[in-house]
Amino acid sequence: MRKIFGEIEEVVIRENFSLNKISSIGIGGKIKYLLKIKNKNSLPILKEIIEKEKNKYVFIGKLTNLLFPDWYLNGIAIQYQDNSFEHLEENPPIVKIGAGISLTNLILKLQKFSFSGLEPLIGIPGSLGGAIKMNAGAFGVSIADFIKEIEVFSFREGFKIIKKEEINFGYRYSSIKDDELIVSVILILKKESQKHLITKYLKIRNEKFPKGKSLGCIFKNPTNNLPAGKLIENAGLKNFRVGDAIISDKHANFIINMKRAKFLDVYELIHIVKEKVYKKFNILLEEEIKIANI
Ligand SMILES: Cc1cc2nc3c(=O)[nH]c(=O)nc-3n(C[C@H](O)[C@H](O)[C@H](O)COP(=O)(O)OP(=O)(O)OC[C@H]3O[C@@H](n4cnc5c(N)ncnc54)[C@H](O)[C@@H]3O)c2cc1C
Repeated sequence: MRKIFGEIEEVVIRENFSLNKISSIGIGGKIKYLLKIKNKNSLPILKEIIEKEKNKYVFIGKLTNLLFPDWYLNGIAIQYQDNSFEHLEENPPIVKIGAGISLTNLILKLQKFSFSGLEPLIGIPGSLGGAIKMNAGAFGVSIADFIKEIEVFSFREGFKIIKKEEINFGYRYSSIKDDELIVSVILILKKESQKHLITKYLKIRNEKFPKGKSLGCIFKNPTNNLPAGKLIENAGLKNFRVGDAIISDKHANFIINMKRAKFLDVYELIHIVKEKVYKKFNILLEEEIKIANI
């Protein structure tokens, strides 16, 4: 199998790779293969091999919102790493970006050209592809606000351009399917230097969010109610822990891995939080993070 993947151009193969090494919460078992894909040319052949060998697969970005179990996974994690940058138009600025770039690096790069709009998202630790799939956002701005179209590689239909109007984007939600790998995106930005906003939002983030290994906010904020973090805090759950997984005392919507937290510690903690918040406020919290299904 390793030999077959080795025949694909520009792919780095890691066998029996421990996902906890790259997960932002430091949790995840060994997976049979991690494939790091440099560009889209190798995708059709990869699809053929995966279909022929009947392998299970999952797309990953930087694992800042995706929780893996910590047992052995007999499948393939596909990490798309293309970070190409193409400048298509000047006014308004239109750019085409490879989905593997880190969102924060992209924002810093755009600032050099005085292309602005994405500054409130600075500091979100994921990749651009992960941000689009999750419709990541902060301070009232979401990545979807800037999208013109995306290119995906569908494991059923091959390469496809999907216009923004064809995608259902919601709060931390997109209708992009789990077998569609986002390879690039065209963004429409503004021509304006907003360097000061980068410092401003990084400062707020530093003050507001806890340090330590986490997946960011675990739950979505319910509509017409207090934010999830406040509800969890008001349910008396700050510092509540299962094993080495603990509810942050700085921001109760964060679960921190203190040292050796296990997948099941986090899983149990999520369920305890949901139950307690439901009992106290009659509100069913919904997870923002994803749990890998492989
Ligand atoms: C400290 C911290 C702070 C955070 N703050 C915020 C915040 O303010 N706002 C916010 O919205 N989020 C926040 N997050 C969550 C997270 O960073 C974002 O959701 C991010 O966009 C996820 O990107 P990723 O590359 O890590 O994706 P992953 O976690 O690797 O994957 C997330 C989902 O995207 C899919 N995916 C990844 N790449 C692709 C691709 N190329 N094509 C198709 N599917 C893909 C995966 O299959 C999975 O379903 C925070 C996380 C942390 C740890």
